Amino acid sequence: MAQQDHVLDPLAVTASGPRSGAAYLRRNCPCCGNAPPAQPEVRTAITADTLGFDELTPQWNGFFKEGKSIFSYVRCTGCGLLYAPVFFDNEQLGRLYAQMPPNMDEVPLPALRATQRGYFEALKRHSALKGGFIEVGPDVGLFTENCVREGQFDEYWLLEPNRAVEGALRQVVNGRKHHIVHDMFGFKDIPEKAASAAVMIHVLDHLLDPVETLRQIRRTLTPGSTLVIVTHDESSLLRQVIGSRWPAFCLQHPQIYNPKSIRKLMDAAGFEVKEVSKTVNHFEVKFLLKHLLWALGFKPKKVPSFANAVVGLKLGNMLTVATPRGAA
Ligand SMILES: [Zn+2]
Repeated sequence: MAQQDHVLDPLAVTASGPRSGAAYLRRNCPCCGNAPPAQPEVRTAITADTLGFDELTPQWNGFFKEGKSIFSYVRCTGCGLLYAPVFFDNEQLGRLYAQMPPNMDEVPLPALRATQRGYFEALKRHSALKGGFIEVGPDVGLFTENCVREGQFDEYWLLEPNRAVEGALRQVVNGRKHHIVHDMFGFKDIPEKAASAAVMIHVLDHLLDPVETLRQIRRTLTPGSTLVIVTHDESSLLRQVIGSRWPAFCLQHPQIYNPKSIRKLMDAAGFEVKEVSKTVNHFEVKFLLKHLLWALGFKPKKVPSFANAVVGLKLGNMLTVATPRGAA
């Protein structure tokens, strides 16, 4: 587990309120260590810190009874990072991740593959696709399969805690030298300077101490190597339009980045940023129509399939490419 560098009060405080009783972590900015400002920038009518751990568990899994509750986000006055100064601690996060029901993702495989393909194109622009390869949280390997097909990597390190996907993942790297580590933070199992490319897709928004995790990854990378990171972008148009209802404002994200704040974070962890760009996510037309109708208050049982047509949209995600600084 990543250690906490910037915890304001190592003895987590007890949240107030008659319904609570849960103790949550209090912390300073996880990037620069500044104390949080008093006023939140993003909050819900009922904030998560007034609710007990058991009340928040269904919400963590995506089920809401009376609207969602989140831990309020503040904007750091030092570095501009949007983060929650009160959040679950590492022990609570461990319990929440362990109880999650299997991923019932509605987005079908061809759309997911097309999205991951776009991320791979970014790696390809910056990397010779040789040496060692690390992916943190590869799931069934939809990114890694591109590396196997088009790259000449000689060793694969895949940090994937979910044992249910192990078979699928092994299939992807079949015939290549590989290590599947069942720990999202199993960097100690990877030798120093083992890899020339590393990838983290929708991981960095979830970490309580992203700087420490990035420093651990840095140790495993060769000089001139390429790190590709995909995160949400809280400065995106979609977020500005829908405010706190933006789905990335949720109990799973202790902080959310924008192009400026991720540059500062990468700098704090010893990386130089090469590129920050908006990414394209692919969806079936049917899926988008269904969600549009839901937003308008309709709950149709069935929507036309449009021959399973897939469209690409820039929908509030960004991709960051970086290299270890000063290690040429
Ligand atoms: Zn800060």
